[in-house]
Amino acid sequence: MTTNLQKMEEATEALGVAASDHMISELGKVPTHLWRIGGAGQKYEPQEWVVDKIRYNTAMYIRTNPTNEQVQRVQDMVEQDIEPALVVLHVRQDNSSTGVKLSDLQEGKIWSTSRSAIVERAAELCEIYIPKDGQFSCRYCRKATDDKDKFVGTIIARQYPGMRAKFDYCSGRCASHDQMAHEG
Ligand SMILES: [Zn+2]
Repeated sequence: MTTNLQKMEEATEALGVAASDHMISELGKVPTHLWRIGGAGQKYEPQEWVVDKIRYNTAMYIRTNPTNEQVQRVQDMVEQDIEPALVVLHVRQDNSSTGVKLSDLQEGKIWSTSRSAIVERAAELCEIYIPKDGQFSCRYCRKATDDKDKFVGTIIARQYPGMRAKFDYCSGRCASHDQMAHEG
């Protein structure tokens, strides 16, 4: 007799295989590592992450005793088309690990299979966000902006002494968005 746990494991395994097949059809292979753009604090340095495994996100952990409904839900997913947003690559770097959706990888804004694509994207981000001589960072959108285009906005909020503070923005638009963010 097959237990619910075995059925669940089989369905999950089948989904993992289908997720890998889907990835191969989309990317030509299952990547062994991915590249990511580091955050602003890391000056958008490209980072290399190792791919551990591919999983299909069923939004369900395998419990010791899955119910019939839970088993059915995962078995139903086997019959359906693979959704790129549910194909997750588990990656690690040093002591960190995270999941990357295939759909994010295909979008290529943060993660890529190609180092050169990420280096290129990182250079674009540096150009947009890292201020050069004669530039400053907009307080709201963080874009590097020429000093001559500076808009000094007054933000009214409880957290500031006298309930107001002045900040540098790229535009009146960003100043008013920042004011709204303080109210929200
Ligand atoms: Zn701005």
